[in-house]
Amino acid sequence: MQKQIYITREIPESGLKLLKEKGILFDINKKDSILSKNELIKILKKKPYDGVISLLTDEINSEVFDACPTAKVFANFAVGFNNIDTDEAKRRNISVSNTPGTSAMAVAEHTVALMLALTTRLVEGDELIRRNKFKGWNPNLLIGTDLHRKKIGLIGVGQIGTEVAKMLHDGFKADIIYSDIVHNETLEKLSNAVKKTTEEVLCEADIVSLHVPLLPSTKHLINKESLATMKKTAFLINTSRGPVVDEKALVYALKNDIIRGAGLDVFEFEPKLVKGLNKLDDVILTPHIASSRASCRNMMSEVAVKNIISALETGKVINNVIK
Ligand code: NAD
Repeated sequence: MQKQIYITREIPESGLKLLKEKGILFDINKKDSILSKNELIKILKKKPYDGVISLLTDEINSEVFDACPTAKVFANFAVGFNNIDTDEAKRRNISVSNTPGTSAMAVAEHTVALMLALTTRLVEGDELIRRNKFKGWNPNLLIGTDLHRKKIGLIGVGQIGTEVAKMLHDGFKADIIYSDIVHNETLEKLSNAVKKTTEEVLCEADIVSLHVPLLPSTKHLINKESLATMKKTAFLINTSRGPVVDEKALVYALKNDIIRGAGLDVFEFEPKLVKGLNKLDDVILTPHIASSRASCRNMMSEVAVKNIISALETGKVINNVIK
């Protein structure tokens, strides 16, 4: 019998082409919005799908697995997979995969863009002109700070953190310090990075940038106490996952000048923001678009589909995330 899968939102054609070539049937959520868990459950009950391509906005847990007991593979269209209950999947012998490495360059560029936008006060300058407040060159207007030779603290130096380190070392002669649960010797050779404890990174860095996955051990890694140890002049960048930062504590720290500013692409209660965050100066907010490039999305589509094909053909995904 022909295999069939469900895809929870439109993904680029490059991946769909691979499914067609293999003769795998697929249904796609055609709504241009996130499916609620109940909507997804209702859809999955309709057909005996063999697998699902899910997004980071889909909560995949036992109720979803129950809705479609024939689906033995969930291929997440994302690097992170904190939206999937992997313990439950393991218990049920369901394979789960992600799309590692597909977005490292894009997210690293976006991270550096947030750093530059904060240090150069780029967004404030743009807003000032649009509000007709630009009265001509002024030596004291929107004084920024250098990125050049700054001390950058990276928390998590996997694929994305490593690319950020290389860009800042090669392009801005930055001093790189990092914390990670593993030693990254390659990174140390490439960028003279120095491994420190997370506590040391927080109190020494001019800019702290987060590149860890969302795990029980990284939830609220940045909280009231850790923010208090950062330099008053420091910026915090988060392009990892929202709940790594206690957003209420961040708003408090920014309002009370405990740190200087923040650049955020991800939010604790996405798409909602904690009260007051969007009212603050020295904060730049982007709507989870760090990996939003055609090249990257095409790669994510192909990798997610290749994982599905591999699971259907061999019983194993390529990028297994279940330990
Ligand atoms: P990766 O797995 O290559 O790297 C993660 C690193 O974090 C690893 O080196 C790991 O050892 C380290 N780590 C894990 N727990 C840690 C801890 N408690 N303290 C310090 N380090 C710890 O992943 P990656 O490709 O670099 O991506 C990192 C995260 O970025 C993803 O998990 C995802 O959540 C997020 N992401 C966001 C976007 C976006 O659009 N904003 C896009 C892609 C990925």
